[in-house]
Amino acid sequence: MGEEGLERSRWRGVAVGAAVGDALGMPLEFGLASHPRALIRTMLPGRLPAGHFTDDTELALAVATTLVERGYLDPDDLAQRFAAWYSSEPPDVGIHTQAVLSRLITGEPWDTAAEAVWRERPESAGNGALMRSWPVALAYWRDANALREASITQCRITHRHPECVAACVFLNAMLGSFIRGADLEQALETAFALASPLPEGLAYAIRLAPRRRREELRNTGWVRHTLETAIWSLFNSHSFAEALIQAVNLGADADTAGAVTGALAGALYGVEAIPEEWRLNLRGEYPLKSGRNWGWQDFVALADRLATLYMQP
Ligand SMILES: [Mg+2]
Repeated sequence: MGEEGLERSRWRGVAVGAAVGDALGMPLEFGLASHPRALIRTMLPGRLPAGHFTDDTELALAVATTLVERGYLDPDDLAQRFAAWYSSEPPDVGIHTQAVLSRLITGEPWDTAAEAVWRERPESAGNGALMRSWPVALAYWRDANALREASITQCRITHRHPECVAACVFLNAMLGSFIRGADLEQALETAFALASPLPEGLAYAIRLAPRRRREELRNTGWVRHTLETAIWSLFNSHSFAEALIQAVNLGADADTAGAVTGALAGALYGVEAIPEEWRLNLRGEYPLKSGRNWGWQDFVALADRLATLYMQP
């Protein structure tokens, strides 16, 4: 495969990997960590049918749709899409996201809504913006500064905490770096540079993540824990499948850990490395109640569209 083919394989891996990871983690969400000798390796049914993606991917598809239709990260348009998703009665929605979106549907502007919710709960640094941020990396992977700005804007529509914002820049910088051909160490250093200055606690967690012991990982909905799990999983595995199996079997916020780890591992190993059985099982609907069903090939087409948006004359 030539360099262009490799880039294509990696950007496709981001979209398919994120959705597959979400679906793989879905039945394990809120559970305890699996026994290390009894790891789940197949897509099981949970509160949704086997292979079904969740709110993580639905909201990522809202981000992707605004990028494709507007041609850039338009926060007003994206906030409306989040509000429309919330109005379509999603089966699951995070606490912080719900607090912001319930204000948006009354007509409150997104910037005052997000600010007000942050003031109400200044300690809240959930992973709700991180889980949906990968489409921004696909649209801006060629331009580090544009990637940084759009990643910040995407996050701040709902999540104002500096740790949430920095985590979104960090993840997207790693994804962009992988697409351009970096290895794991290089991508990590590129991300440290682009997301600088990182909040101290987050920087510390990321630096320690590769050497953590499995029993130390909590994998909660705290954005710091999600990034920690994803980086630990990548450093302690040698394939897409093994990275994902490590991440989702930590239980707790397994679907979001799966989505974030899946985006990264998909970018690192390429779409062909994603097990066929997982790809073929992938399913979900977006917009909700629209009858528009998404399979893995739809994520491939979406990734191609996003990753070449800014190449057009
Ligand atoms: Mg979810």
